[in-house]
Amino acid sequence: GVTIQGLRKAFGSNEVLKGVDLEVRPGEVVCLIGPSGSGKSTLLRCVNLLEAPSGGSVQVGGREVTDPDVDIDELRRHVGMVFQQFNLFPHLTVLENCTVAQIKVLRRGREEAQRVARENLAKVGLADFDERYPDQLSGGQQQRVAIARSLSMDPHLMLFDEPTSALDPETVGDVLAIMRALARDGMTMLVVTHEMEFARVVADRVVFMDGGVVVEEGPAEQVISAPQTPRMQDFLKRVI
Ligand code: ATP
Ligand code: MG
Repeated sequence: GVTIQGLRKAFGSNEVLKGVDLEVRPGEVVCLIGPSGSGKSTLLRCVNLLEAPSGGSVQVGGREVTDPDVDIDELRRHVGMVFQQFNLFPHLTVLENCTVAQIKVLRRGREEAQRVARENLAKVGLADFDERYPDQLSGGQQQRVAIARSLSMDPHLMLFDEPTSALDPETVGDVLAIMRALARDGMTMLVVTHEMEFARVVADRVVFMDGGVVVEEGPAEQVISAPQTPRMQDFLKRVI
């Protein structure tokens, strides 16, 4: 799980995170929602140290990520991240995209890496796509490869930053279905999304951020169907 307490992040004089508390318990799915610029991506990036927090505490699997003794590579090994832009290696095939980090970072042998990659490609419905290159795939297929690539590292936690925002509407559903299956399998997930229906159905909890703080949080159904704060009510009016 993840425990975030009093997390602060400033870029120069721009204070983006102003003391965020957030918890994702093992096996839980938390959707993080909020207006553009509220600090959602910055928060995710602090969890796997793509950004260094300015203050507060972030614990992943019970270990403080800002502890100077923490091995960042070791931390990232257990934390998968899927971005809005899929960030596949364009010069590598689908299979290679899913094996390269296993071989280099986890030091798995090629055969084993390929076996794990194929398992995960099958899981995302791309069993026959091994030899294709990213530019021969639709956006939705590329995103599914990105998910398979992350899963091939056996993460304990998956971070998703608007994974469907760059997709054609007809491929969004495939990606959401895979995320839903992952959730059902018990993966711990922190998901930034504008897909309110996904959040309502799949998330255990929804956290609404605005202006660098958590404004409202609670069970998904309750927060989305009966928001308590004017800011959340106003936000929902604009996104639904
Ligand atoms: P969106 O919904 O548009 O993705 P967000 O909630 O993810 O928005 P962030 O991307 O976290 O918001 O950005 C929050 C604020 O932090 C913005 O004002 C942004 O300009 C600023 N910011 C983010 N990253 C950096 C950076 N590397 N350097 C300077 N400012 C940054
Ligand atoms: Mg963002």
